[in-house]
Amino acid sequence: MEKTIIKDKLNRPIRDLRISVIDRCNFRCQYCMPADQFGPDFEFLPKSALLTYEEIERLGKIFVNLGVEKIRLTGGEPLLRKDLPILVKKLSSIEGLSDIGLTTNGVLLPKLAGELKAAGLKRVNVSLDTLSDELFGQINGRGVGTGPVLEGIEAAKQAGLGVKINMVVKKGLNDADIIPMAQYCKNHGLELRYIEFMDVGSTNGWKMDDVVTKKQIYLLLKEHFEIEPVDPAYFGEVAKLYHYKDTDVKVGFITSVSESFCSSCTRSRLSANGQIFTCLFNGNGHDIRNFMRNGASDEDIEKRITAIWNGRDDRYSDERTAETNKNRKKIEMSYIGG
Ligand code: SAM
Ligand code: SF4
Ligand code: SF4
Repeated sequence: MEKTIIKDKLNRPIRDLRISVIDRCNFRCQYCMPADQFGPDFEFLPKSALLTYEEIERLGKIFVNLGVEKIRLTGGEPLLRKDLPILVKKLSSIEGLSDIGLTTNGVLLPKLAGELKAAGLKRVNVSLDTLSDELFGQINGRGVGTGPVLEGIEAAKQAGLGVKINMVVKKGLNDADIIPMAQYCKNHGLELRYIEFMDVGSTNGWKMDDVVTKKQIYLLLKEHFEIEPVDPAYFGEVAKLYHYKDTDVKVGFITSVSESFCSSCTRSRLSANGQIFTCLFNGNGHDIRNFMRNGASDEDIEKRITAIWNGRDDRYSDERTAETNKNRKKIEMSYIGG
């Protein structure tokens, strides 16, 4: 099939696809899946609702045909999905796909990093918000210390995967860890990305006051390190990157709140149960699973995805005010995967 790059109403091409492979997680991070809201009775998706690996592969090929170059697997915790390397192998064989990554809390990497690498995975982003065992246990809501995550990071490096670290910064929670995390990552040659706390979903009690902005983090970093900006590598690169002077170790910021980047947002998202979302903050998913299960051809699916993307005009972060929009139907981060 010939590749056609589809564009949305604001002329943004579709370049990235984030696939949530599961909505469950072994953590209950307080900014994502607070334990009091995601308790033992919480109903996660049943297995039959999840897209199968064959269905994901089929959709992956169609998305690539429409312009997607990069796929990132996420969740919930993607490593909880059984036999994930099988999916990675299927996706990495898609012609025209240049990159496949995974975002994870890292705990299962010692078990899976080697197999994932062998299956064609290129990189992992591991989430770690502090180096303090006690605070980490509080943040992840499960009392798990940093040890398993640090071991996961090491296992990924040993397996030859590219590793970046994601740190969500929330005021009064882990802002004291900004410099220790920078120092640790610099010493270990790891790219650290500070993520501004976002108002995704409606369970994490987000307030603008809780956000530590890129500017605040940057000024603090400048007091401790010499850093220089790095030019964006491509249109739509989300992280604003710097490198430590005289090294090639980078440090970046995901400035979703303080400096939104909707005008170059090329991301589409596919939930574990086969709904397409055109924005992290647009709760209206477009079903593709049932359409597919009801016998749609590849051409039908391609047309449907094209129509969804052509109709996209989302720019939530550009329009956000100090108050999160409470009237808006929003999806949870654990469901759509960040
Ligand atoms: N479980 C995996 C993990 O934690 O990396 C993948 C899914 S998680 C939803 C994806 C990313 O979203 C993680 O880096 C996490 O730190 C980030 N995240 C979750 N809730 C967030 C929030 N409210 N604001 C900003 N980032 C958030
Ligand atoms: Fe789980 Fe990741 Fe959300 Fe933490 S951020 S609760 S590890 S999905
Ligand atoms: Fe993209 Fe929506 Fe985030 Fe804007 S708010 S950058 S459109 S996901």
